[in-house]
Amino acid sequence: MPLDPGLKTATALWIAAARFADPDACDVEDDATFQAHEDVFAKLHAHAVSAKRTVKDNGDIAGRCKDALGDVVGIGFQHNSLQLLQRTLGGLAVSLVQGNGDGPACRNGVCSVACGSGVLEIAGLVEARIRETFSMGGAAFGDEPAIVYATTLTPLGQQFAPFKVTGSTDSNKVIRIVNLVLLEGQLSATDVVDLIYTLHHELICHAFQGYRSRRPTPNAPAQCHWSEGWMDTLAFDIAELWIDEGRSDWVPLKGERGKGQLRAFHEHRFGDQPFLLRSDRTRRRGAREAFRDLAAILAQTGMAASFEEADTLCRTFTWMVNTHPEAEWRRLKLLATRLQQNLLSKIRHEDAVAAAQACLSFLVDGDLAKLEKTLA
Ligand SMILES: [Zn+2]
Repeated sequence: MPLDPGLKTATALWIAAARFADPDACDVEDDATFQAHEDVFAKLHAHAVSAKRTVKDNGDIAGRCKDALGDVVGIGFQHNSLQLLQRTLGGLAVSLVQGNGDGPACRNGVCSVACGSGVLEIAGLVEARIRETFSMGGAAFGDEPAIVYATTLTPLGQQFAPFKVTGSTDSNKVIRIVNLVLLEGQLSATDVVDLIYTLHHELICHAFQGYRSRRPTPNAPAQCHWSEGWMDTLAFDIAELWIDEGRSDWVPLKGERGKGQLRAFHEHRFGDQPFLLRSDRTRRRGAREAFRDLAAILAQTGMAASFEEADTLCRTFTWMVNTHPEAEWRRLKLLATRLQQNLLSKIRHEDAVAAAQACLSFLVDGDLAKLEKTLA
């Protein structure tokens, strides 16, 4: 559901504040800088709340953003992130008027959105990076599948508490739709990290699933431990790299703090969840363990020359399976079970090694049916 002009402006201000002015993310120790962050953070929240109420059409947006900028300009200007904030607010006055926050975010494999409310820009940056990461040695990747984003704000976030961000993907159409839901209200740097993780999950686990068939792919349910366990482990690994390698104005928590927040979100997905049976949770955890074991076996047996190469092989295998023209969640779920049974076999180590060999063969021939048969 597109955001109306008031909510669009409020969201843009909440996100900008969370990226650049959250005092809890301030890594400078002196009190004056910390105070400047607190001051700016509170001021932008007040502007967001009033924008939500008073901005009725797109014509009001630029003036509202300039008011917010005027109120914080000069505060803590010697600090890099507060400088970036002021630049961003200046950009919002121009870019926020166009569009409603929904639509595509990438063109020719690069982010095609500048600023906006922020959600579409980070979606474009993450999508472009995923396309680049898995372009497999430069093979043409293009813009397939076409992906569009839709952002909704809700005042009721109980179903995704303790987090303020959740997502879902509809792959039932040739054009994939990634739906993002944010809890309406002030956001923090940790919420932005959660948004980045959510984008990685929706894109890597769902939007690209089965896309090489060029047909709609049935949506995987939460009970699919391939999509939610095996694939989410890959999504987590790629999201973790974002903290070190992502565009720095979209890394609101640096280093171990950012990675720690990603880990907390990832771990939560493998904990108790009201809609998951205990058996589903166990399978989800098993899929994650099997993903890790595949890389370990490849490294330990010398099938990969190093741990780094083992990780790369495991990631490429995972991506190739998930995007395979015949990939469909029921089949992938069964495959995850077979991978687990073989890779986690504590009784017969040779079964685990044979399974890892079968995964390597798949990398060469891409034959999903053969892989399933070998693991059966
Ligand atoms: Zn999912």
